[in-house]
Amino acid sequence: MPTLELPAALAAEIVELRRDFHRHPELGFQEERTARRVAELLAGIDGLTVTSGIAKTGLVALLAGGKPGPTLLVRADMDGLPIHELNQHDYRSCHDGVMHACGHDAHMAMQIGAIKLLAARRGELAGNVKFIFQPAEEGPGGAKPMIEAGVMENPHVEAAIGFHIWNNLPVGQIGITEGPCMANTDVFEIRIEGKGGHGAMPHLSVDSVVVAAHVITALQTVVSRNVSPLERAVVTIGKVEAGDRHNIIAHTARLNGTARSFSDEVGQLLPERVTAIATHVCEAFGAKCHMHYSNVYPAVVNDAAMCRRVWASAEKVVGAQNVIAAQPSMGGEDMSFFLQAVPGCFFFIGSKNPAKGIDVPHHHPEFEIDEDSLAVGTRVIVQAVLDYLAG
Ligand SMILES: [Zn+2]
Ligand SMILES: [Zn+2]
Repeated sequence: MPTLELPAALAAEIVELRRDFHRHPELGFQEERTARRVAELLAGIDGLTVTSGIAKTGLVALLAGGKPGPTLLVRADMDGLPIHELNQHDYRSCHDGVMHACGHDAHMAMQIGAIKLLAARRGELAGNVKFIFQPAEEGPGGAKPMIEAGVMENPHVEAAIGFHIWNNLPVGQIGITEGPCMANTDVFEIRIEGKGGHGAMPHLSVDSVVVAAHVITALQTVVSRNVSPLERAVVTIGKVEAGDRHNIIAHTARLNGTARSFSDEVGQLLPERVTAIATHVCEAFGAKCHMHYSNVYPAVVNDAAMCRRVWASAEKVVGAQNVIAAQPSMGGEDMSFFLQAVPGCFFFIGSKNPAKGIDVPHHHPEFEIDEDSLAVGTRVIVQAVLDYLAG
């Protein structure tokens, strides 16, 4: 099969679309302008049925192939982050304090480009493509409510593909990880209740700041002493809040953290150990521990057979030397819910380019991508769909 071509006009349109979404970021479940824009852009495409308002702001665009066959789900996410953009380019965010700093603007643009390219060739498709535009990936999570709203049925979905623009890989490369590829993600809050008092008379108080310091230190042993050195895990306390003034013993302290893992075994161990350590350290110092621990997203687990298919498709686009067995990421992603429902592959589209000064991590206030990644990503998505539905 000849290499898939992306017409120059469509490639330019995808860049413009990405910039338009970039200019107008919206937070999870508030993607109203975004959803309207997606619906407008997809209106009137032959063979495409668009349904809006799924799980609040989500959309499904169903492309009916010309021949019978399975239905493949392809997913893009839509939301921005509560970050104030520090870039100065002319498509910088026009909403103060909100920014597309993860690349979801690029995901939507590539997916719309892929839809246009595939719609023009839908006669060749032996089966259907169900394109998902999912809200609230950055939280509280739009994949699960979309699945609960029935997106895996009518027609029944057989397999899924998802993708993420990836500044950990150079532009031109595609990263694929078989098995667990993004982490099981927990969040927790530990509220330590001591006994406030005068800073000069600590013996009459229970100092929640000192207790918090011991809890934070002791939690460092969960990964270093409880998790097997052959496993992967993270426990991070990202926020500490306590105290009012230099001479007041803080009555309470609040710690917020996240825990990450890949295996079910470690996924169970982390909440057990975090809770036991926090509870018993507090008890040892005479403080009370109020613990709230919850799982946000399960691990993203790629199906080996689907990975091999996407790998072969990606090789056709970027060449064998540019498809990389990517390292798993400790980041979380709610693509996991789709991949729990059906076998699938979530892959990374390289977007960094240090030569152009594009080398900052995701969620950075100066996050930027090499826009050449958009054409690469679009072509890989289209190639993967064509190959999957080749009959
Ligand atoms: Zn993100
Ligand atoms: Zn993201």
